[in-house]
Amino acid sequence: MVESHLAVIPDFPEPGVLFRDLTPVFADGPAFHALAEALTAPFAGRFDHLGGVEARGFLLAGAASALCGAGVLTVRKQGKLPRAVLTEEYDLEYGTAALEVHEGELPPGSRVLIVDDVLATGGTVGAAARLVERAGWVVAGISVAIELEDLGGRAALGDRYEVFSLLQY
Ligand code: 5GP
Repeated sequence: MVESHLAVIPDFPEPGVLFRDLTPVFADGPAFHALAEALTAPFAGRFDHLGGVEARGFLLAGAASALCGAGVLTVRKQGKLPRAVLTEEYDLEYGTAALEVHEGELPPGSRVLIVDDVLATGGTVGAAARLVERAGWVVAGISVAIELEDLGGRAALGDRYEVFSLLQY
């Protein structure tokens, strides 16, 4: 259901990269519903909030929230959140980027399931996980639609976090 709606784009955003495009999944109601359900099912009863990573993680966390009733923590790119924030940098292929959360957004000890579209090197969800911990919450797990196994994200994250991916390439 989900896999049949995935698009694969060669040489995007640069030559040599095979980009997995989830927009056709988002555009199909039943496929999007199935994906949102699949991302939370392995962690049922073990999280209080969904941590959606900007931007595609927002869509997934929002859809999953409507299905399971958990609220969403918005893990945003730097400079977007209006109140006091915690910031975590992570490496990109060239340079660095940073994610932020509002301090005190959730009650202490909240169990947060981090949700994103793709796990590649693990830099993005790793930064999200560090933010959750620095904020005084607990990482319930990391759940992604697609894991690009050759990029080693799972190993880079280590065995501290339970990682679920629906599809592996
Ligand atoms: P990482 O930080 O694990 O190296 O990269 C993961 C981030 O890059 C995700 O937030 C994801 O949105 C983006 N990303 C990397 N490769 C792909 C891809 O092939 N398709 C899509 N949709 N996103 C990707």
